[in-house]
Amino acid sequence: MPKTIFVRHGRLHYFIREVLKRLRLPAPHASRVGDALVAADLAGVEGEGSSRLPLFASRIGSGLINPAADIRMLYQEQGTAVVDGDNGMGHVVGARSMEIAIEMAKKLGVEMKFNTEANAKFMRSVLHQYDVCIVASGARIDMDAYAGIEGRERLLDALDVAHGRKQAGKRVVIIGGGKIGLVLGESLRKAGAEVVIVERDKRIGGDVMPTFKWRHTTWVEELGIAVHTSSRLKRVTAEGALIVDAKGKETLLLADSVIAAGPRKANQELFAEFEWMVDELHGCGDALMPRGIDAAIHEGYRLGVRI
Ligand SMILES: Cc1cc2nc3c(=O)[nH]c(=O)nc-3n(C[C@H](O)[C@H](O)[C@H](O)COP(=O)(O)OP(=O)(O)OC[C@H]3O[C@@H](n4cnc5c(N)ncnc54)[C@H](O)[C@@H]3O)c2cc1C
Repeated sequence: MPKTIFVRHGRLHYFIREVLKRLRLPAPHASRVGDALVAADLAGVEGEGSSRLPLFASRIGSGLINPAADIRMLYQEQGTAVVDGDNGMGHVVGARSMEIAIEMAKKLGVEMKFNTEANAKFMRSVLHQYDVCIVASGARIDMDAYAGIEGRERLLDALDVAHGRKQAGKRVVIIGGGKIGLVLGESLRKAGAEVVIVERDKRIGGDVMPTFKWRHTTWVEELGIAVHTSSRLKRVTAEGALIVDAKGKETLLLADSVIAAGPRKANQELFAEFEWMVDELHGCGDALMPRGIDAAIHEGYRLGVRI
């Protein structure tokens, strides 16, 4: 495992800012990228953090990223805007686009309700006030997929661990080498845990974008995360996870925690709840089918335009 160096986040921000300024990014843009990278590091999502700085530097150097991007709004209608990012840094273009979206939402009177669960009771309380409902309730780990597995009550849900609702031990086996298992495994490993990933398919990263797969493969190797492919969970015991490979060979992986990181299942219960309560009901993102952030954003955009 590579040696970990600890630095204060303020110093890391300064370093990123100075590197990017020398690469001709205007100071406010360099600072914004610094905000995003440091925030990702602090949140434990190091794959999106300062480790990406060398990649950005080489992309700026080769002309793939325009450091002096002139971000411009091409046109704006009621609830839509098209922004030309001019090949600039995604953090800067994305943040500016979000500012525009927030300004537009405020102007149009879009109301946000936080800490509110949408359920049948909630829907009855707003009945006849809205014509259209979009369910964008995301996806969860399908723990029912482990129904036949002995010791399944010992399994932890990857999302509970990722959100800090459950604590993983020092030796961890993760079932599922898709993006959730990989991101979680990498962050637990960096936090000092021994991590083993078990994947049913021949390769890890099956649901990761092609251009990102190699990064996970490299990180897994660099971090010393053991991977068992073409293998599935057979039993969870007090000692750990008993797995079986395609040839039927069984292996006991010693672990304090066995974490289920897949398969994912769309949160679709609200469709049935709301079906007879609103005239027009739509679904969007992982609530339709667990995929990725890009599909969720595109569907939200398309629905917004159509409605
Ligand atoms: C660890 C991890 C790593 C990932 N890495 C990547 C990646 O690298 N690339 C990628 O493209 N995708 C990645 N994903 C997947 C990506 O996050 C999702 O595909 C995307 O967020 C889906 O967006 P969504 O809006 O459909 O659902 P979500 O982002 O899940 O949002 C659903 C929201 O609905 C809320 N909600 C649910 N039910 C209710 C209710 N009844 N009432 C009120 N609110 C409710 C939830 O609290 C949540 O905030 C990752 C996911 C995880 C967990």
